[in-house]
Amino acid sequence: MRFIQEALKAIDRGQYGECVGCGEDINEKRLEAVPWATMCVRCQEETEAEHISSRMVLARPEAEETES
Ligand SMILES: [Zn+2]
Repeated sequence: MRFIQEALKAIDRGQYGECVGCGEDINEKRLEAVPWATMCVRCQEETEAEHISSRMVLARPEAEETES
C-alpha cells in the first residue's frame, strides 16, 4: 500500500500528524479514524480530484499520436 509507506516515511521524518500537502496539523479525529493519513481532509480531497481528472486524460485514445 503506497499510502501506508508514505505515512511510515512521514513518521520517520517526524512529520506524523502533519499534512504533507500544506504542512498544517491533521485533525486528531481524522488521525483516529485514518491513522495512516498523510494529508488533511482538504488536501486529500484536492488530490482525489486531481486523480480523477488525470484518469480522464489517460482514458483518451492514443491512436492520434501513433498515426503521425
Ligand atoms: Zn493539507
